[in-house]
Amino acid sequence: MAPRFFDSLPRGVDLYEYQGKELFRRAGIPVSDGRLATTPGEARQAAEVLGGPVVVKAQVLTGGRGKAGGIKLAANAHEAEERAKEILGLDIRGHVVRKLWIESASDIAKEYYLSLTFDRSAKKALYMFTTQGGVDIEQVAEESPDALVQLRIDPLEGFHPWQARRLVYAGGVTDPSEQKQIAAIVGKLHEAFVSFDAMLCEINPLIVTPGGEVKALDSKFTVDDNALFRHPEIGAMRDREAAEPLEALAREKHVTYVKLDGEVGVLGNGAGLTMSTVDVVTFAGGRPANFCDLGGGGDAQGVVDALEIISADPQVKSIFFNIFAGITRCDVVAQGMLTALDQTRIAHPIVVRFDGTNAAEGREILEDAGRDNIHVEATMLDAAKRAVELAHD
Ligand code: GDP
Ligand code: MN
Repeated sequence: MAPRFFDSLPRGVDLYEYQGKELFRRAGIPVSDGRLATTPGEARQAAEVLGGPVVVKAQVLTGGRGKAGGIKLAANAHEAEERAKEILGLDIRGHVVRKLWIESASDIAKEYYLSLTFDRSAKKALYMFTTQGGVDIEQVAEESPDALVQLRIDPLEGFHPWQARRLVYAGGVTDPSEQKQIAAIVGKLHEAFVSFDAMLCEINPLIVTPGGEVKALDSKFTVDDNALFRHPEIGAMRDREAAEPLEALAREKHVTYVKLDGEVGVLGNGAGLTMSTVDVVTFAGGRPANFCDLGGGGDAQGVVDALEIISADPQVKSIFFNIFAGITRCDVVAQGMLTALDQTRIAHPIVVRFDGTNAAEGREILEDAGRDNIHVEATMLDAAKRAVELAHD
């Protein structure tokens, strides 16, 4: 099969909160003491060792755990065991909880947000800071963009302490002790980001305790997997299967597959068309469940593999199959689809838009097959609207 564009782009290795916090701790960013637990009994023991109230936190590679019931306070070891029973096995958007992080509970006076990531277009690292933390940062960006301070770091000039102070002042932090602590954390976050080859380091919330102590209450840490050879210990942290079992399967089958959070499965050929397909689905009011690129090949086996991967995602409610055939031929793709349907008994509604080489022949093959879950549409927009409709049926 043809080489695939996305294979050459860096992929991130997402770390669990407890792993990211371990890296924070090594970098000198304050975090609470905690222990890992995989059973309610271990959760009780961990709470006994820590002493005092704890917070029981689901370790899954997805955000919004709090809202999903994956984070609960426990006043003592007995309660920690009970909360652990509730949280272990919980399914948080397709991620089943198998590990818990038991952490000494913090009292929270304020919740801030701090992250460092790449601004790819500026080719610089980008800090984002706001005192309106604890909530979705996208929400802050949308509703009160002025409260979100951004600061770019030139990789050639490196980080300078005045940049940390600027971030903190611009964010409106007025307490001198807070200013000092946050500025220090900003600097250490940069050290962690560079030394661990991170693509994203996010602290949400960065809290201030009633006593005025600032610390990282959560961690989202993504490491560039092209740099893993420099960090064997981070490579060992990687949990391939849990990260995205379907992505692992896709890698095996040489299908480019990226899991997203919506309900419309997206299958296109070529990275450009697939990305536009994702956009059109969004434009039509839907949310893509994934991004799956057949590549230039589009042979029958490739179609079978891709459909198998997409339909295995429990969030997928409909599939939008968007093909613009150049070297690929729509009739070959159509045959591949029928083979896939025979082999895998996929029941999802599949909306097809064919354009380019042998598009008419491809459509004819699908129509002749008379499958009631295949819907052929003439344009990309019509097909996207249909796929969104069918996803919500
Ligand atoms: P997320 O929902 O996946 O982002 O998980 P977080 O680790 O950010 O926790 C979600 C929320 O739980 C936080 O914003 C806090 O409000 C709350 N929380 C987490 N840890 C503690 C704690 O130690 N004490 C208290 N009081 N609340 C906590
Ligand atoms: Mn969080």
